[in-house]
Amino acid sequence: MIHSSPKNIALFNSIIISLIFAAVYTTLYFTYENINIEPGLYLTLLIFGLSFLTINYSINKFIYSRIKVIYKSIGMMRPQKPTKKKSKQNEKSSDVLDIVNQVVMEWGKEQQQEIESLRQGAKYRREFIGNLSHELKTPIFNIQGYISTLLDGGLEDPKINKKFLEKSEKSINRMIALVDDLEYISKLESGELKLKPERFDLFQLTKEVFDFLEMKAEKTGTKLLINPNSAKSVFVKADKKRIRQVLINLVDNAIKYTDKKNSKVTVTFYDFHDKYLIEVKDNGIGIQEDSLVRVFERFYRTDSGRSRDQGGSGLGLAIVKHIIEGHQQTVSVRSTEGEGTTFSFTLDKHK
Ligand code: ADP
Repeated sequence: MIHSSPKNIALFNSIIISLIFAAVYTTLYFTYENINIEPGLYLTLLIFGLSFLTINYSINKFIYSRIKVIYKSIGMMRPQKPTKKKSKQNEKSSDVLDIVNQVVMEWGKEQQQEIESLRQGAKYRREFIGNLSHELKTPIFNIQGYISTLLDGGLEDPKINKKFLEKSEKSINRMIALVDDLEYISKLESGELKLKPERFDLFQLTKEVFDFLEMKAEKTGTKLLINPNSAKSVFVKADKKRIRQVLINLVDNAIKYTDKKNSKVTVTFYDFHDKYLIEVKDNGIGIQEDSLVRVFERFYRTDSGRSRDQGGSGLGLAIVKHIIEGHQQTVSVRSTEGEGTTFSFTLDKHK
C-alpha cells in the first residue's frame, strides 16, 4: 500500500489533473488541424509540475497550521527534556504527521508513567495513614483504659493507682518515640538532614553503643560482644551521628527479638579492600523467609515481632536503610527462624 504522505497525495492528484489536460488536448489535436502536439506535451508537464507544487504546498501548509497548534500545546504541557532535542531540519524534512504521531505517542507514554507514579503515591499514602493510625491506636486505647479505671475509683486504690499511671507513662513514651521516628524519617526523605561525613573509629563507636544499651541488654540477659577476631581499630568515613543511630537500631532489635536465656549479640568488622563490612548477629527468634524482603519497609513488623509487642514503631529498619543508602552503601539481612538474624552493612574506609 502506498504511504499517504502529503507528497504522495500531491503526486496522485497532479497526475490526474495532467492526464485530464492531456486527454482534452489530444481531443482538440484530433478535432482541429492547426494544433501542434509539442506545446501540448510541454503544457502537460508544466501543469503536472505546477499542480504538484501547489497541492503539496497547500496540504503541508494546512496540516502545519492545524497540527502545529496541537503540537505546540503538547509541547507546552510536557516538561522540557534537554536530552530530547530534535533538530529543526529533521522536523521539516520528515513527514510532519509522523513527527506529531511520535510526539503524541511519547507524550502518552509519559502520561501513563505519571499516572502510575501518582497511583503508587496515593497507595503509599493510604497505607501510611492506615499504618500510622494502627500504631497510634494501641497506646491511645491503653491510656484511655488506665485513665477511665483511675477515674472510676482506681485513683483511691493504692494497689493500682501508681501502676496504672506508670503504664500510661509507658504508652505516652511509646507515642513520643513513634513521632520522633516519623519526624526523623521524614527529614531523611526530604533531604533536610544532610550527611556530614567525618573520620572516626567504628570500633569505639560500637563500644559506646554497647554502653548505651547495657541496661536494656542486662534486663533480657543478653551479652553484647565484639568479635575478638575483628580489627581493633576500624576507621571509616561516614556521618558518625547517623551511624550511631544505625548501630543502636540494629543492636536494640537484636536485644528485643530474643527469647533465649543465653542470648548474645556479636558485632564483627570485615576488612574488604576499600570498605568495611559490619555484621550485627544475634541468636534470637529469627525472621521467617517471606518477611525478610519486607523488614526494611516502613511500619512492617513480622507476626512474631508484632505479637511480642516490644513497643517498637516498625520504623527502625526503614531508618537504617535510609541512612546506609544515603551513604551510597548497602544493607542486607539473613536469618533462620529460631536460630538468629544477621544484619550487615558496608561503609567506606577512611583513606
Ligand atoms: P520495630 O520498631 O518493630 O522493631 P524495626 O523496623 O526495627 O521495627 O523492625 C521491623 C521488624 O523486623 C520488627 O518488628 C521485627 O518483627 C523484625 N526484626 C527486626 N530485627 C530483628 C531481629 N534482630 N530478630 C528478629 N526480628 C527482627
